[in-house]
Amino acid sequence: MSPPSLSTVLQRLETARGVKSVLVILDHLCIAWSGGSRKIPVVVFYAEAIVTKEDVVRSVGELYNLAFKIVRTESRLVRGILSSHGFHEVHPNSNDFNLMWTGSHLKPYLLRSLLEFQKVNHFPRSYELTRKDRLYKNIQRMQQAHGFKNFQFVPQTFVLPAEYQEFCNAFSKDKGPWIIKPVASSRGRGIYLVSSLSQIPLDESILVSRYISNPLLIDDFKFDVRLYVLVTSYDPLVIYLYEEGLARFATVKYNRATKNIKNQFMHLTNYSVNKKSSDYVSCDDPEVEDYGNKWSMSAMLRYLKQEGKDITLLMGQIEDLVVKAVLSAELQIAAACKMFVPHRSNCFELYGFDVLIDSNLKPWLLEVNLSPSLACDAPLDLKIKASLISDMFSLVGIACQDPLPRQSRSDRVSLDPSLKHQTHKMQVWASASHFSTQDIRRPEDSSQAVGCHSGSHCRGGTSISGPILQRPLTLTMALSPCGQVKVLRRTREEHQRRGGFIRIFPTLDSWDLYSGYLEFKTTMNSMLANKLFHGSKVQARMAFSSYLHRVQMRLLAESSTNSGSTWPEKDKDQMELVMRFLKRAAGDQQAPPSDQLALQDRRRVLSRQLGEFIHCYNKTEQMVENLERVVGDDRCINPGVFQEFIQQASESELEEVLTFYTNKNKSASVFLGSKSRDCNADHANVHHGKMVAYQVRKRTHNQMVAGSNPEQSGVPTHCSSGACHGCTSHQG
Ligand code: ADP
Repeated sequence: MSPPSLSTVLQRLETARGVKSVLVILDHLCIAWSGGSRKIPVVVFYAEAIVTKEDVVRSVGELYNLAFKIVRTESRLVRGILSSHGFHEVHPNSNDFNLMWTGSHLKPYLLRSLLEFQKVNHFPRSYELTRKDRLYKNIQRMQQAHGFKNFQFVPQTFVLPAEYQEFCNAFSKDKGPWIIKPVASSRGRGIYLVSSLSQIPLDESILVSRYISNPLLIDDFKFDVRLYVLVTSYDPLVIYLYEEGLARFATVKYNRATKNIKNQFMHLTNYSVNKKSSDYVSCDDPEVEDYGNKWSMSAMLRYLKQEGKDITLLMGQIEDLVVKAVLSAELQIAAACKMFVPHRSNCFELYGFDVLIDSNLKPWLLEVNLSPSLACDAPLDLKIKASLISDMFSLVGIACQDPLPRQSRSDRVSLDPSLKHQTHKMQVWASASHFSTQDIRRPEDSSQAVGCHSGSHCRGGTSISGPILQRPLTLTMALSPCGQVKVLRRTREEHQRRGGFIRIFPTLDSWDLYSGYLEFKTTMNSMLANKLFHGSKVQARMAFSSYLHRVQMRLLAESSTNSGSTWPEKDKDQMELVMRFLKRAAGDQQAPPSDQLALQDRRRVLSRQLGEFIHCYNKTEQMVENLERVVGDDRCINPGVFQEFIQQASESELEEVLTFYTNKNKSASVFLGSKSRDCNADHANVHHGKMVAYQVRKRTHNQMVAGSNPEQSGVPTHCSSGACHGCTSHQG
């Protein structure tokens, strides 16, 4: 849920002056409450604050003495947003920070010393995704393990000189052009196209990739898309995609003729390359998103939609490649976290995904950036990136915890006198809550940490000794119930503070599609999915059971009327459907009623068979027990309302509910049980149980979801939502 805009906050402040109301406003609008009894305050960020610099927004950070440090990078935007929320900057060597923003990976000893409330913006070993050579190797491994066509979204690539011979073989079949890149570089540096073997350098480590020579063009120009992907955890894996991104255009019209292959302004879409061109057009108006060489992603999608392109399909494929790319590095990164990161909430990471769309509307992943540029050269950059970073900080949840050890607090920074008497109350929150020093030092799931026998090795402030690090990973240990609850709560709270981020994994359907690819074998992923989606699945199945019951009752009623049917063909079709359904769902346990029987008798037999099936269905699913577990699950529709609805709903109303579930999940598998996907299976075979889809008419049932957001209704926000979000301009 997006926080209200800053202007709304200030309007409310205006109408309700006074210290008490300032406190109320701070409480309600600048702070979100988290934790078991919702006692831990976390900061809510506002993008506009970077411009308006309002005292009320700044006072949150000041009251709690919140601090950040920036290391090995220069990010004016991050600094500006944090400062405008009252955070102060500490020296790069200081340990007294809430947030560390760094341009590169952290050394293991620094990671191990993190306290529970501290956050850093990188996971260890993220280079498995962000180094071009590692990314390709990881995806190649997934291609080999799970089928080439399921991971065919990166151009074929060779690492030279090691794979020179293989490259020569590929070159003999396809003379290119090919594109040469340094293994670990960025901003288009060192990149050029080649069309002959003699142009390949043999003395350097380079990548050579198949050049996508049929890019989708807009007004004859090549472009690529920068998407922002936020991972808040690798075990369990939780991935968000930002609703807005950027489309970056080349400055010279695209022409495939070989004579042009040296023209970087035609073939490379990097801003850092094209800004040097005299043809580069920038736009000074942040409200104009489709002018010049940089557009918003949503403007680009709107344009494609107008051109008749299927942008829902496109965004679905983009989400697919994002999830699969992250999955390809999941094992290494999750294992590194287990070794080096003391608390599950310490790390988060914002990746910049560069995607090229070809003329067939197929997206190709070109690379994943470790620290996507947050430079704001144009007003559109500031509009998008300030919202992105504010939403990201709100989502990850920076706890209002004074980072200074208690003994060194005596000479705390003094506050604005007008706010001083709020301090006491705010400090009461702070101390009543939440983070006694002991709390933050308690390992959350010590009993299961890898290589951890006593639990004491795995927490902040204690170093992990050498021999323990050398032990092989044991990945099957169970997480303590307390740890599970924390993870579940954190995931739900993040989602409530998601702003413009869309969770793309896990969702009800992305879990079905991709969980089979997960490689880091702990119970965390399945625990999270079970807990997040359990309620909505139970409700879907209850609706299905009630629907079958209505059909059964109708058959029974019709079997006792002697009147001939007004629509004999329609009746026949419906009975056919029921028989086909029973054959698929109940197997060969029930023989279909004989054709020789009279219509009424066939109806009666079918009604009885359906009744038996429903009985077994309800029993095997332990519907009653499941229903009890639904209560208190905030992923689903209010259980009382739901019960009342399905008791009173007509057959056709229930059909609509089932259609709604089927459409939203792009699958009817939930009704007859879903299995994790067989990774080698063709996509088309994944969604079993499709017979429900043809039984129900193509209508949606908004009544059931009115007033509940997609997650509350248990409905996943998969690709269609990504595309739809992408189509609406993000309100900064
Ligand atoms: P860098 O990290 O230096 O930006 P990229 O891999 O993103 O390197 O490549 C830079 C640009 O080159 C891309 O933005 C894109 O325009 C172009 N490019 C890279 N790889 C390909 C490819 N395989 N096919 C077509 N164009 C490509």
